[in-house]
Amino acid sequence: MPTRNILVLNSGSSSIKFSIYQATETERTKLFEGALDGIGSGSAAGKFWIKSWVPEKGGQPGDATKLVDETPTVPDLATGFSLVAGALEKRSLPHPDAIGHRMVCGGPTVTENQFITPELIDEMERYTAFAPLHTPAAIYIMCEAAKLFPGVPNFVCLDSYFHRYLPEVTRHLPIPAEYSAMGVRRFGAHGISYESIVQALQPNVPARLIVAHLGNGASISAIRDGIGIDTSMGLTPTGGIISGTRTGDIDPGVLLFILRKLADTAPDTNTAADQLEKIASKKSGLLGLSQLDNDMRALRQAIGEDNAHARLAVDEFVYVLRKFIGGYIAVLGGLDMLVFTGGIGENDTATRAEVCAGLECFGLILDLERNKQRGEATISTQGSPVTIRVIPPAEDLIIVEHVCRLLQ
Ligand code: ADP
Repeated sequence: MPTRNILVLNSGSSSIKFSIYQATETERTKLFEGALDGIGSGSAAGKFWIKSWVPEKGGQPGDATKLVDETPTVPDLATGFSLVAGALEKRSLPHPDAIGHRMVCGGPTVTENQFITPELIDEMERYTAFAPLHTPAAIYIMCEAAKLFPGVPNFVCLDSYFHRYLPEVTRHLPIPAEYSAMGVRRFGAHGISYESIVQALQPNVPARLIVAHLGNGASISAIRDGIGIDTSMGLTPTGGIISGTRTGDIDPGVLLFILRKLADTAPDTNTAADQLEKIASKKSGLLGLSQLDNDMRALRQAIGEDNAHARLAVDEFVYVLRKFIGGYIAVLGGLDMLVFTGGIGENDTATRAEVCAGLECFGLILDLERNKQRGEATISTQGSPVTIRVIPPAEDLIIVEHVCRLLQ
């Protein structure tokens, strides 16, 4: 394979992340990375940065330099993408030979990572309701990237791809058949992160593995012999364990109660449904419980100041997570390894300690000294029957791998 520059684009409802890798037959080298956060947050400033890993003259490989560090106001996604596109051009970053796009879920008919065509976009657009906060933004960025770099092939990489082997009992949802026939089922999310953890564990992937991806969005998966067999998120990323702003699994009656309340004042059903979606996805979870913030760092600080709501929010987050871990141990028939990943999983040592406390009966024995480390580490004791590890996800690298494979 000739040397190629691969641009990875990863967009959410309020952020655009990107990176540029140089890929040769055998090596993948990160050249640039950047992110724009805070899109659509009113008059509040967002955060925009770009780092370069290309060594400066006399510099060491691995030393990153900051090329951009700004706090722009970004009212919408279109402004956000033009800011990113402008920076890509202005900074003369390498022209991409191919572009990989992260997509949470392409719907029931788009289940493979593949080359993006207008027909594929039309097909994925039919299922925006399956990841309403992510899919419209991802499709917008795919279309804009195609205009910005005409002739450059674009590929979609799906989070749901990792979960493609979910057995029928976890994939199928207990709803009337007519809705299942519309494609409503468990797709799961964070699949690219799970794939990167399994890859990082090669060639010794434990037979019975649980990975907890704890970021602003949080999920957990049971993985047997490297294959995902259960995962907490469902049709959409709103289900599962508690996330920063999402409910996670909740009695459907609660949603119906809120919907009926909203219907009292909303002009029509669709408006009420949109309002409910915002409540369940953007105002609940750690934010709703704490009435303060969705960010774990802010909650830990508030707990230090004896904020009872913040304490309850984190206690509930941990409690639900522990219940899922117990359930997945049952699903897997025991456990060989638990991996923490994502911003909270990698950095919040207190969450890891609180999750593991009391799980000794399952053979998970945390080493409190080792747990003080941040980033990649083994944090269980030497003799712990179950290994507990922290592994940062490498999602962009997985997307680059898929793009290279598809280019061939
Ligand atoms: P996402 O990619 O889903 O937006 P991340 O994986 O970046 O989220 O994780 C964000 C979460 O990680 C936030 O709740 C943040 O507070 C938490 N986090 C990041 N760094 C730390 C830290 N040093 N200590 C505690 N929590 C942290």
